[in-house]
Amino acid sequence: MTASVPATAAPAAEPVLRRPSLVGRTRAGLTEALAEIGVPEKERRMRVGQLWNWIYHYGVRDFDAMTTIGKGLRGQLAEHFSLDLPSVTAEQVSTDGTRKWLMRMPSTGPHDRGAEIECVYIPEVDRGTLCVSSQVGCTLTCTFCHTGTQRLVRNLTPGEIVGQVMVARDRLGDWPGASPPEGAIVPTDGGRFVTNIVMMGMGEPLYNFDAVRDALIVVQDGDGIGISRRRITLSTSGVVPNIKRAGDEIGVMLAISLHAVRDELRDELVPLNRKYPIRELLDACRNYPGLTNARRITFEYVMLKGVNDSMADAKALVKMLKGIPAKINLIPFNPWPGSKYECSDWDQIEQFSEYIFNAGYSSPVRTPRGRDILAACGQLKSQTEKLSARERMALRAMAMTD
Ligand code: SF4
Repeated sequence: MTASVPATAAPAAEPVLRRPSLVGRTRAGLTEALAEIGVPEKERRMRVGQLWNWIYHYGVRDFDAMTTIGKGLRGQLAEHFSLDLPSVTAEQVSTDGTRKWLMRMPSTGPHDRGAEIECVYIPEVDRGTLCVSSQVGCTLTCTFCHTGTQRLVRNLTPGEIVGQVMVARDRLGDWPGASPPEGAIVPTDGGRFVTNIVMMGMGEPLYNFDAVRDALIVVQDGDGIGISRRRITLSTSGVVPNIKRAGDEIGVMLAISLHAVRDELRDELVPLNRKYPIRELLDACRNYPGLTNARRITFEYVMLKGVNDSMADAKALVKMLKGIPAKINLIPFNPWPGSKYECSDWDQIEQFSEYIFNAGYSSPVRTPRGRDILAACGQLKSQTEKLSARERMALRAMAMTD
């Protein structure tokens, strides 16, 4: 059974200016915030350490709970700043434990009702992967991707990107001393519930480089959220000029949304290919900083029936990746209403996978997760958009009577 619930009171975003949130600030950003409210320079380093611990290790939402910080400074912080996170306006839980949240960003001003994005959580026995968005909508128009049908509204800020991780940990009870909601499927190995991050939600992360970099630096920090760079994967459709920067400045694992072995087809599936064709993309991959056999690049390949799934495609794929430490992720296409593609037949996916495996590549077929809740990117948002005004009002009314 699939549960679909309005997650919170979900009020329409208030068109008011809010105090800026400290969530998502790097150590340098927190130092600046303290300087703004007059904290003496010699105290700032220590105060940043305390704030960091409360915000990112304990996940507190209230300055008053920060008991290692004096009352006076707590009051000053509360007067000038908030610890606001995105609000969850809808939550769907799949029978396999996959959770999808529609999150509304805090309003940034009188004309902003609060942009909405999606975030998906996929639990397995020994890990919990969170698929995080970097933009509201996307400028790129990959033809197999549902987000590609939604226009770009704006880039997300570091706070809104880190905020997705914080909200997921809130909802899953993944902070020290908290527990998961009853019946929730979470990893059972005794560790944390959000262990891995993939920047594969809405948007092209390398078109929002600075914010994604700052957010992932915060998420990696071992004194806070502490998800190691080896457990963070940034997926790009191939913004070649920023690939090396990502390796140098963020240092996370790289995934390439490849999907085709010929420029002619990739031009159609991933139109950014017209700007940065396959040869340039693969050169950038060969030069990705830190690339070794232990740190391979993942090439994502969505299996589209009769489009890119022939054995000739499999052979060309193996040939073109020669010399690049690589993994290949075959993704059965998850059809969405109105999409023009079909998922390849299972036999074909197996044959394709076997060929790649025999050529020496690890080629897991990503099990479709959350199909009952359309868990591919962009789908909850547009489903919710398709709700009529009457249905939205009914959801709100239900939430308000809780
Ligand atoms: S696959 Fe990624 S880059 Fe392409 S349209 Fe979808 S969200 Fe944008």
